[in-house]
Amino acid sequence: MPRSPEPPVRRPAKALRQHRSRASAPALVFGDLWPYDPAPETAAPDIRPRYELFINGQFVAPKKAGYFDSINPATEEKLSEIALAKTADVDVAFTAAKAAFDGAWGRMPGAERGKYLFRIARLLQDRAREFAVAETLDGGKPIKESRDFDVPAAAAHFFYHAGWADKLDYAFPGPRRPRPIGVVGQIIPWNFPLLMLAWKLAPALACGNCAVLKPAETTSITALKFAEILRDAELPPGVVNFVCGAGEVGAEVVRHPLAAKVAFTGSTEVGKAIMRETAGSGKRLTLELGGKAANIVFDDAPLDQAVEGVVNGIYFNQGHACCAGSRLLVQESIAELFVAKLKTRLATLRVGNPLDKNTDVGAINSRGQLQRIREMVAVGEKEGAVLYQPPGCRLPNKGYWFAPSIFTGVTPSHRVAREEIFGPVLSVLTFRTIEEAIEKANNTAYGLSAGVWTDKGSRILQMSAALKAGVVWANTFNQFDPASPFGGYKESGFGREGGRQGLGAYVKLD
Ligand code: NAP
Ligand code: MG
Repeated sequence: MPRSPEPPVRRPAKALRQHRSRASAPALVFGDLWPYDPAPETAAPDIRPRYELFINGQFVAPKKAGYFDSINPATEEKLSEIALAKTADVDVAFTAAKAAFDGAWGRMPGAERGKYLFRIARLLQDRAREFAVAETLDGGKPIKESRDFDVPAAAAHFFYHAGWADKLDYAFPGPRRPRPIGVVGQIIPWNFPLLMLAWKLAPALACGNCAVLKPAETTSITALKFAEILRDAELPPGVVNFVCGAGEVGAEVVRHPLAAKVAFTGSTEVGKAIMRETAGSGKRLTLELGGKAANIVFDDAPLDQAVEGVVNGIYFNQGHACCAGSRLLVQESIAELFVAKLKTRLATLRVGNPLDKNTDVGAINSRGQLQRIREMVAVGEKEGAVLYQPPGCRLPNKGYWFAPSIFTGVTPSHRVAREEIFGPVLSVLTFRTIEEAIEKANNTAYGLSAGVWTDKGSRILQMSAALKAGVVWANTFNQFDPASPFGGYKESGFGREGGRQGLGAYVKLD
């Protein structure tokens, strides 16, 4: 009797077999094998013990004296005290901005405005190291990020927009000529303080507007140091004003009758409140809000490269990024291997002193944010997701810290798959087909960014057309350029920052 053929044996991929055979061996912690010597950045941040408000080209005390502390989240030590603006101060700032707009700045030709922007960009470059140290001290992000990303990118935004100042007619060709809007109210968050300031101010000034900007309460220092640069650049008084404080000050900026436009970057919740406040007021509005980006890894992707991209996507800036790749969608056939590689890589991340040049993951920005991350992680565990944190990860005793974390066993209905955690926590989901990947990726209230990892160019094109996200990165993540517009779909907001599209928010066509 003929024998029926043996059923085909499905052999796991070689890398997975190797991984499984090693799985029983004790975990090796990279840092224990080859410890790094401390490499602290020593440049002086030049932070004043007290900062006043910056209004009409001067540092001025608030009308009703009040100051709040800005602390270093890595040590909980006080760095400086910052003047707290009240309604009357916000009003003086808007009045100064309006006077500047109706005066020299409003009449200045674009080519002259551009010179100021170039000067500001160069002055920032001159003081780049000092600003990087100040940003790291005040916000907790690793020095290698503030040094290599935040500060250079902020300067790049001023350079880029300096070039547009005298070419706006070419940016907006047609019978209607671009004109500035007037005084704009701008509110920024704490995750990229100087860079968000540059994203807001550079296009506003290039287009001839004046601004009243509110930095986030926990990270005002680099904005106030930037005010020194504006003075050194001899920017006419009143063109840029900084009012400091918490959310109430932001609300005053939104409400002020002289604000012809409001530009807000922050949470979706506050964005909705601002939308309600400005509705029917005639004020223009752009909102850059939260995100829950999918980073999608197909089985043909270069896996080690994808691991790096996923790590960068979620642990960059401790996960305090609106565009963070906080949902990993990995094809089921490689999920086990990929997660194993990810865990191995996680164990090599250096968490600690943000001023150390080797640090990969710094401090959580504030006690409140740390509390929110802890709450969301507790929710994930309660929902049944499985938490992994590298066993060898030792956190400093003082300051606000959270170990880089991965949730496996996540389903699309889990809150950790739906809500923004804004911390170093990755939720892992799987998919089988391209259609399932698209459906799961788009199954979110947000739509700011996404990542696709595959060897196939045609699949990249298909995915980028199908994904409802303002930015889709392919075989990379977290790439930014001032010429490239950035912004969201759905609850991630509307309006673009960067590029010609970003300029459009700061002009009216007459
Ligand atoms: P947030 O609470 O909305 O705060 C953002 C800014 O708005 C801060 O300066 C805040 O002041 C101020 N603010 C708070 N309440 C306000 C109100 N009622 N009216 C006017 N201003 C008010 O957001 P966050 O938690 O600090 O920042 C994280 C959020 O920002 C995340 O959701 C993230 O995704 C989003 N984000 C988005 C982008 C983007 O480009 N789409 C970029 C970065 C961050 P205080 O903080 O000083 O109280
Ligand atoms: Mg601080």
